[in-house]
Amino acid sequence: MSRQTQAIIHADAIIDNYKALSALAPTSKTMAVIKADAYGHGAVNVARLLRGQCGQFAVAIIEEALALREAGITAPIVVLEGPHQDRECQLAAQHNCILVAHTEQQLAWLARCPSSQRPVVWLKVDTGMHRLGFEPGQVLPMLDKYAPVFSSQTVLTTHFASADDPDNPFTREQLLRFSLLREQTGLAVSMANSPATVGWPASHGDWNRVGIAMYGGEPLVKPVDGAPELRPAMTLRSSVMAVRNVASGESVGYGQAWRATRPSRIATVAIGYADGYPRHCPNGTPVAVNGQRASLAGRVSMDMITVDVTDLEPVYPGDRVELWGNTIPVDEVAHAAGTISYELLTRLSMRVPRIVK
Ligand code: PLP
Repeated sequence: MSRQTQAIIHADAIIDNYKALSALAPTSKTMAVIKADAYGHGAVNVARLLRGQCGQFAVAIIEEALALREAGITAPIVVLEGPHQDRECQLAAQHNCILVAHTEQQLAWLARCPSSQRPVVWLKVDTGMHRLGFEPGQVLPMLDKYAPVFSSQTVLTTHFASADDPDNPFTREQLLRFSLLREQTGLAVSMANSPATVGWPASHGDWNRVGIAMYGGEPLVKPVDGAPELRPAMTLRSSVMAVRNVASGESVGYGQAWRATRPSRIATVAIGYADGYPRHCPNGTPVAVNGQRASLAGRVSMDMITVDVTDLEPVYPGDRVELWGNTIPVDEVAHAAGTISYELLTRLSMRVPRIVK
C-alpha cells in the first residue's frame, strides 16, 4: 500500500541538471551537495543516480556522510561544517571523508591525529559571509603553524553571501579578497555554489559545489545569459479527498480565513503542514488539480489543504493534485509562503514517500 501523497523524484532531471551545471564550468569538477537528505530528494537516491559521474559529494555533518557509507556510497564526501568534536577527525579518515576546518581548535584536533589516521583537510576562508572561516590574514599563519595537517589535496574554500543576485558587487569583492590568497598559497580552490556556478563564471574553481540548481530550483533572483534550462527534480503530489459546494458568504477552514464571494466548489486535498507543505501559504497560493491551476482557499491544516476549484473542469475525489513540480514551480510556492525553495524542499517530512522515477 502506498500513500497517494508522494514526492516523485525525477532521476533524469537530476542527472541532466548536474550535467548542464558541469558543462558551464568545463575546467572545474562539480561536487553534488547532498546535505539535508539531498534537499529532501533522498541523499542515497541522489548519490546512486550520480554514481560514476560525480567524483565527490558534500554534506553538512559527519552523520550524513556515515549514513551514505552505510548505504554503500564510496565516493569521497566533503563535510562542510568540519568536525564538531575531536573524535570526528579519525572517523572522517576511516570513512574517506574530507573535513573543512574553519577554527583553530579543529586544526589542533587534526594535528593530534596520527598522520595515518588524519583525513584530507580543506581550509575555509571568511571572505565576507562572516559565518564560518578564517580571516584572510590568518590563512598563511594557520597553514604554517599546522603544516602537517595539510597535504597536496588541501583545498582553500569560501562561500558567497549574495551570489544569487547578479547585480550585487559584493560577490566581486569576495572574489577579490580570495584571489590574493589563492595566489599566495598556490592551493586548489572551491568557491562557487549554484548561483555562482550559473551567474559568476569568475568564481569557478577546482571544485564547484552545486545544490539547489541540481534539484531544479532557481539559483538566481534574475536571469542571466547562458543560464541552463533546469528541470524540477521533484514533483510533490497528492489527491483530492472530498469535494463540496460552499455557498456565497460561507467560510472554509480554521480561523475562517477564506470566505466564498460566490457559490464555490472546494476540493480538500490530502497534504498538510505535517507533510512539509508550508503553513504560511496564503489564500491564492497556486496548486494544480488535474493539471489545471487553482488556488489555495483557507488555512493549511496539519493533514489537509482546501482548494478553490470553482472555475475548473469538474473535480472528483481521487483526482491528481500537484503542489509543486513541472506545472507549479517550487519557487512560486516558496515566494507565496515568504520563503525560499531550499526551505520547502528540505522540510518535506518523512511521512511523504520519495519515489524515484
Ligand atoms: N557550499 C556550502 C558551504 C553550502 O553551505 C551550500 C548550501 O547551503 C552549498 C555549497 C550549495 O549551495 P546551493 O544550494 O546554493 O548550490
